[in-house]
Amino acid sequence: MTAWVVWFVVGAFVGSFLNVCIWRLPRSQSIVRPRSACPHCRHPIAWYDNVPLVSYALLGARCRHCRKPVHWRYPLVEALGGFAAAAIFQRFGVGLTGLVYLVFVWALIVASAIDFEHQIIPDEISVGGLVLGLVLSPLIPRLHGTDQALTALMRSFAGALAGGGLLYVTGTLGGWLFRKEAMGGGDVKLLAMAGSLLGWKLVTLTFFLAPVLALIPGLAVLVFRRSHVIPYGPFLSLALVASLFYGQAMIQMSGVEESVQLLWEHYGS
Ligand SMILES: [Zn+2]
Repeated sequence: MTAWVVWFVVGAFVGSFLNVCIWRLPRSQSIVRPRSACPHCRHPIAWYDNVPLVSYALLGARCRHCRKPVHWRYPLVEALGGFAAAAIFQRFGVGLTGLVYLVFVWALIVASAIDFEHQIIPDEISVGGLVLGLVLSPLIPRLHGTDQALTALMRSFAGALAGGGLLYVTGTLGGWLFRKEAMGGGDVKLLAMAGSLLGWKLVTLTFFLAPVLALIPGLAVLVFRRSHVIPYGPFLSLALVASLFYGQAMIQMSGVEESVQLLWEHYGS
């Protein structure tokens, strides 16, 4: 119980930093310097006005100096950062694998918020994460359910290929069928990155799960805004988190794995 609270608080502070990344990455600004400032009046934000969730509530969702409103995204990302830390460590334990999964989910929060606002997913997250995934996999083979570094590396590659490949082929087919770009390159790179950490099974599950999650919001946008453009990154991210937590259970429940294994045994030998 107490550990849960501690991880939430730590995660909320990291959430503060995620907000900095969300604002600065698409603007090609350094995420390290300078100190955070109000985007309206440029007044630097003091540490006591930068306490996650608390400052937002105490200041009534406004800047202390110019009284202009502070975007609701800030407390939301701080809360999500906190929940992510608590849930991941609860589920996967406080260790290297848990830490990798946590950084992964934090990266998904940043990618989703940026995609939501700017319709892009920065390469710093997708390509940077892919490289990191390929490097970390042989170092922490347990990420791929093995203790062999080489096996883990191969599973990481297979995952990246499956994730990127499925979306790339779908996007190409979609573009060919509907004569317009259906899938952004950022989504392809994001799912490749996810595959390098989660392996091909979970990203394949994500590939089928994300459009189900996007269906209702997609239809709403189509009807109310007469647009067919919705950022896909947030739905991929949501599906990835669901796959990370419940993917194994979902695959087992679906019976797909057993069927494939039966077919394999029947025809393979
Ligand atoms: Zn201000």
